[in-house]
Amino acid sequence: MCPFCKDKSCKVTERPDGKLACDCGKHSWPNAAVYAEALRRKNLTVVKAVHTWTQGF
Ligand SMILES: [Zn+2]
Ligand SMILES: [Zn+2]
Repeated sequence: MCPFCKDKSCKVTERPDGKLACDCGKHSWPNAAVYAEALRRKNLTVVKAVHTWTQGF
């Protein structure tokens, strides 16, 4: 599913031309490597946010 869409049913699919896009069309990536990098950055952001939140205590 698309990590950037709030709708959890929004799937990311690879197109015949190698591009990846989510079902609603809001997000697209030129290739799988860019998509993987986007996922990685998104996960880093989440981890960092959780870390900051934990430090607040
Ligand atoms: Zn999306
Ligand atoms: Zn979507």
